[in-house]
Amino acid sequence: MLALTVPTASREQLVDITAEVNRALASLGAGDGLCHLWCPHTTAALAVNEGADPDVASDVLSALRRIVPPGGYRHAEGNSPAHVKSVLAGPFLLLPVRAGRLALGTWQSVFLCEFDGPRNRRVEIRFIPLEGA
Ligand code: ZN
Repeated sequence: MLALTVPTASREQLVDITAEVNRALASLGAGDGLCHLWCPHTTAALAVNEGADPDVASDVLSALRRIVPPGGYRHAEGNSPAHVKSVLAGPFLLLPVRAGRLALGTWQSVFLCEFDGPRNRRVEIRFIPLEGA
């Protein structure tokens, strides 16, 4: 297992971590198999989506803001929208790995989704070898 530290720069942000994950897979000696990514936070999450046009990440964040209302919650910390957005995106990904690299589609990137930043976030990376993956 390897862990990345991902610094985020604003309250809400999608940070492309694809290159860091591929570097981690190389240092884990990955071949063919699966990459398990785990985000051990309650106001951040992980997602795969388009990495080519940054407007897509911006649109995803603005759509989540429309879906998740800013007020009307009980949690005293005041960051309930971030908790709800984190539930919607989810805390883990299981991704195919071929020849030691993520087997993503042409337009796909892996994102750490920050919903209550800026902070340093942790992402744990495990490689699971599989025959004929
Ligand atoms: Zn909270």
